[in-house]
Amino acid sequence: MSTPVRRQYLALKAQHPDALLLFRMGDFYEAFDEDAGVLAETLGIALTSRPLGKSEGRIPMAGVPHHALERYLDQLVGAGHRVALAEQTSEPDGRTLVERRVVRVVTPGTVEEGALLAAGGHNWLVAVAPAGAGESGGDGGGERFGLAACDVTTGELECMVLDGAALAGELARRAPRELLAPEAPRAQAADAEGALPEELAAAARRTERPARHFAPAEAARALREQYGVGDTDGFGLRGMEPAVAAAGALLAYLAEGWPEALRNLREPRVVASHDHLELDPQTVRTLELFESPAGPDASLVAVLDRTRTGPGGRLLRSRLARPVRDAAEAGARLDEVEAWVEAPLERAALRRALRGLPDPERLLGRVRSGSAGPRQLAQLRSALAALPDAAAQARAAGSAALEALAQDLDGAHEAHAVLAAGLAEEPPAEPGDGEALRAGFAPEVDELRELAADARGALTALEAAERGRTGLGALKVGYHRVFGYYLELPRSQADRAPEEYEPRQTLAGAQRYRYPPLSELEDRILGARERLAEAERAALERLCAQVAACGAAVERAAGALARLDVAAGLAEVAAEHGYVRPVLRPAGPIVIEGGRHPVLERRMEPGAFVPNETELGGGGPDVVVLTGPNMGGKSTYLRQTALIVLMAQAGSYVPADRAEVGMCDRVFTRVGASDELAAGRSTFMREMVETAEILRRATERSLVVLDEVGRGTSTGDGLAIARAVVEALHHRPGGTPRTLFATHYRELTALAGVLPRVANRSVAVAERGGEVVFLHRITEGASDRAYGVHVAALAGLPRAVVARARELLAQLEAGGGPGGAAAWGDGAAGAPAQLALPVAAAPAERALTETVAALEPDELSPLEALQRLYELRAEARRGLGREG
Ligand code: ATP
Repeated sequence: MSTPVRRQYLALKAQHPDALLLFRMGDFYEAFDEDAGVLAETLGIALTSRPLGKSEGRIPMAGVPHHALERYLDQLVGAGHRVALAEQTSEPDGRTLVERRVVRVVTPGTVEEGALLAAGGHNWLVAVAPAGAGESGGDGGGERFGLAACDVTTGELECMVLDGAALAGELARRAPRELLAPEAPRAQAADAEGALPEELAAAARRTERPARHFAPAEAARALREQYGVGDTDGFGLRGMEPAVAAAGALLAYLAEGWPEALRNLREPRVVASHDHLELDPQTVRTLELFESPAGPDASLVAVLDRTRTGPGGRLLRSRLARPVRDAAEAGARLDEVEAWVEAPLERAALRRALRGLPDPERLLGRVRSGSAGPRQLAQLRSALAALPDAAAQARAAGSAALEALAQDLDGAHEAHAVLAAGLAEEPPAEPGDGEALRAGFAPEVDELRELAADARGALTALEAAERGRTGLGALKVGYHRVFGYYLELPRSQADRAPEEYEPRQTLAGAQRYRYPPLSELEDRILGARERLAEAERAALERLCAQVAACGAAVERAAGALARLDVAAGLAEVAAEHGYVRPVLRPAGPIVIEGGRHPVLERRMEPGAFVPNETELGGGGPDVVVLTGPNMGGKSTYLRQTALIVLMAQAGSYVPADRAEVGMCDRVFTRVGASDELAAGRSTFMREMVETAEILRRATERSLVVLDEVGRGTSTGDGLAIARAVVEALHHRPGGTPRTLFATHYRELTALAGVLPRVANRSVAVAERGGEVVFLHRITEGASDRAYGVHVAALAGLPRAVVARARELLAQLEAGGGPGGAAAWGDGAAGAPAQLALPVAAAPAERALTETVAALEPDELSPLEALQRLYELRAEARRGLGREG
């Protein structure tokens, strides 16, 4: 028979089979059975065992002290576990079983504090519903998906409906910490897997949820209940069933794991994907927007992020992840940046005011979800206290663009006043002794505090009175956690203790006593303390409610703060690195003068980066075929063009002397070696899949940036594919996307002569005294050489190999390029034959070369010269294995 506690544990565990259950027992959270092993291993703590019930013997157990929970939670959730916290929900009375309930399930997508939460980044919990999910009779697949993304720390909830490709891009940009997807019915598991794009399967932490939560009716009900509305259309969700399904499933997930978080949720915001510049996952990676293999400083966000606050950091990331298509909207953002560029002194003052500012948005979230203690309230107060100064600087900057933001900042004054009036100057971390509140805020707290203080006075008075009464000058009152208040005498005076002192505890040098009047006083003191703690907690709750009542204004202020912070940060970067304000037009060409790569230029000596021009569309070509040497700077140029466009549409100044951008709807980039073999496809296969997607989705308003398409196959196939791709882009019905096409196939440069909107550009190279110098400058026209062998030599390929490659290259070129390969070997054009050739031929060729080098044409008669030529040919043919 197991013990009642064991039964209670097993019942809770059965409710949360997929979570690690931490079971509160006094000052510890304990894990049992398999969970104990996992806990011990993940945290590196001791695994013990404990007898529980006669029949069960000993069971494994591991535990952590409650005060260190936050740190351990970070580790557990960071290691990918879901953690269910079972708290004691009744007071232990020593007789009956303490009640316990799982009050929260902590998962990667629902952490509220701690190291897992990046201050300047969102912590997205995302639910994805395939159209038709959860509907009985639905096909479970379909092209459309609903997505709901929620950050429980800020209360944001965003909804969208998108197709599979756009969904993949959206997930790449958001990088959700946790992804909720409907669990596939067992029988259809294989099919349903195929219904979700592969990015879904590979997502960070995928949590399967019952399909019924995604059913339209149930999901819509969850939304209506959450917001107390009769209809979800009011949120703009009409006709967006898959988004409603996703949002409903997300609410159900929170309701189950952390109901308090629902109190902090804002109304859903519908995000229309066609409002934004679409970026596919490959582009997010290629442009290294948020992460770079070259290190944490080498991403775009790293070089642009000079924000000082959490809301600012998050807003900047959102903007880079989702630049806009509307020139006016991006222009409004640029107005704000310009205002700060023009006002450097005010900008510096603003940035000083924002330094080290606590995060008002997340603190408000904690107030709303009921997890803010006195310290968090104090932090919120100090964040709000800084807003008037920020507003003053915004006004001092003197631009109309900032006035509305300053007004929004002003709106938070009421919340600040509430906190200033209620909260003590320096409140303790935990409520309990009345010191968290300012006197006057809660009369009942003040009263009990006086009572508690009185009681302390009464203790001192009792001590003095007893000393007087007994004449024992060494008598004193003391307190012990278990025994409570006692009187104490040195052992030497113990025999003089009066009779009414009841001996309690004998120590080496002292004797302690119980004394009934002291016990009465004790009851009064402890009672008052308990009531005081209670009253203070209640008063703090009231204070939180008052702050929450101003929540909308605080939210708006935090939003304005974010905008100011982002704009001032971007202005700082612009001023420091010589960026300009791009001219944005609803449509039209992309013209960049003196453009630079924002990340690379910072990694080089000042002035070392060579700026370049771009002209695409309008009067210029729509398609640029870019050729040039390896290492010449082609990829850099391609990336920098895409980055400048993206930055402009995100509302940032750009690294250029002048930039004009006709707004793009989509940016596609395939640049550099993509050596991921994800999804088990070969590199070439992957490249073709991505190219296919680009050809399908690019419009006349898109920017397409392609590097070396068709490189991973034979020369003939590659060249054919590359040319067909350029032609397809050029002939696209409806208009040609603005396209940069870098290639090593010099044959493609002929297209400029055939297709009207194609032009050649190349990367300039200078040869000085036999040395090749890469100028990194883009010039008109095609390049005539690849300099691959030269780069191979720079890379340290063995000298003999390089020399041999030069010989072979010369032969190839004499034979008319790759097409002339037949003349190069023994007639077989296949790669193995080419490779088999060199070793046998080498000595003969060296001899031949030496003969040629020894020739003195000036000393030969024409006839002799002809004669020598015949000899040389015969020798060469012998070397090639061809007689005659
Ligand atoms: P490959 O064809 O071999 O991939 P690439 O032509 O794409 O080469 P990049 O990778 O763009 O060449 O550039 C090679 C190096 O040249 C860069 O790492 C950088 O150091 C330098 N470089 C490129 N562009 C510039 C520039 N505009 N100014 C200065 N240096 C540059």
